[in-house]
Amino acid sequence: MRAGLFGLVLLAGSLPTLCQGAEWQVGVAQEKITPSEMVWLSGYGGRNKPAEGKVHDLWAKAVVFEDEQKQQFILITCDLGSMYQELRDAVANQAAKEFGIDPDVVLINISHTHCAPEIAKERIVFHRLSDAEEAKLQSYIETELQPGLVRLIGKALADRQPAVLTFSQSSAEFAKNRRFPMDGGFVNQPYAEGVTDHDVPVLQVRTPEGQLRGLFFGYACHNTTLSFYQFCGDYAGFAQEIIQQRHPGIIAGFVMGCGGDQNPYPRHGEEGLKHCRQHGTDLADAVDRALMSEAKVIHGPLKVARETVTLDLEPLPPVAELEAAAAESDSYPQRKAAYLVRQLQEHGEIELKQTCPLLAAKFGQELLFVAISGETVVDYSRFAKADFAGPAVWVAGYNDDVFAYLPSQRVLLEGGYEGRSGIVHQLTPTPFLPNVENHVRGGVKRLVEQVSR
Ligand SMILES: [Zn+2]
Repeated sequence: MRAGLFGLVLLAGSLPTLCQGAEWQVGVAQEKITPSEMVWLSGYGGRNKPAEGKVHDLWAKAVVFEDEQKQQFILITCDLGSMYQELRDAVANQAAKEFGIDPDVVLINISHTHCAPEIAKERIVFHRLSDAEEAKLQSYIETELQPGLVRLIGKALADRQPAVLTFSQSSAEFAKNRRFPMDGGFVNQPYAEGVTDHDVPVLQVRTPEGQLRGLFFGYACHNTTLSFYQFCGDYAGFAQEIIQQRHPGIIAGFVMGCGGDQNPYPRHGEEGLKHCRQHGTDLADAVDRALMSEAKVIHGPLKVARETVTLDLEPLPPVAELEAAAAESDSYPQRKAAYLVRQLQEHGEIELKQTCPLLAAKFGQELLFVAISGETVVDYSRFAKADFAGPAVWVAGYNDDVFAYLPSQRVLLEGGYEGRSGIVHQLTPTPFLPNVENHVRGGVKRLVEQVSR
């Protein structure tokens, strides 16, 4: 049956009965993750109060891919601002205990919406939340989000059934490079000449008869159209909602790409919600165009590999300099310096390393999915698509541990927010060394070799 399907191209609307015994078992599921309380929201440091309502619910979606050899890959997408290693591990390990899965095949991707609960670990240092606000967030993470994500994996596993996977791609234009060069530095403005990745990859889960059950789609752009005090998935939330309305009964999950240096435009202001809905509609339209275009049938076998690379950081400033900065009046640099001084007092030294988990999943000869952690800049997507051309290459950023911006060597050497100065808001002690790109690309290359054998 596999040989008969190899190379088959499908056109939507004319789907034949694809196969009697499909070679995939695939389950899809969704779980509401809107907090039960009005908690602090993510992203912007200038926030001064918790959420005041919601535009729509926040969701986590899951898909379990399982090939004929029972190899699995479990992709979870979330309308969340951040994710960290301990939480990803807690979810994956609990799911392993309850459902007997391999925790290493679980990947958690977040949309980086700035209108979701502030679960990022750095909030403790940089947001100066009251004890009551911090307690609400802790309670959300421990009693709502974490068990909700485990439950979601269970639901997706229980939904496994024979499936056909197809892949197609289109594009959307609203993401713009946001590193506008000015006065020897960069300001956060649309930069028309800057690099972008406008691809919209769409992986479709169909019944053996060709009926759509779910789809997962990607885009490389910050979810920062909105800057208000309502729960909202931003453009990705609207896109998922619109797709599910247009295709009743399916589950649609948004996979964040390498959008670290990309913003949606227009954004913010009184019309922010209108712009946001428009970007979501544009992305949903792009997904529909991909559904209507030629789709490649995706075969097994499935191969999944993980590696965590360790990235080197710049030396700390001299202790006297840090202590002086920590004694200044309140500012982000002051808070960061005070945090580093406390770390030095408590531990005697600070390890100048940052771990960066990576994953690759290869679907037969047709699709290579690469996942990088951190706020991955767009160069990484362009590199992978060039380095591993052959199968369709889909690169996701913002996975498992969104520790800080992950610059390429170019962005790091250019400087600016994504290259260096954004580190002031993060627990990562200092900016990366220029070898950051070699370490990340080297790790990805090893993984791709592993899954391509
Ligand atoms: Zn960001």
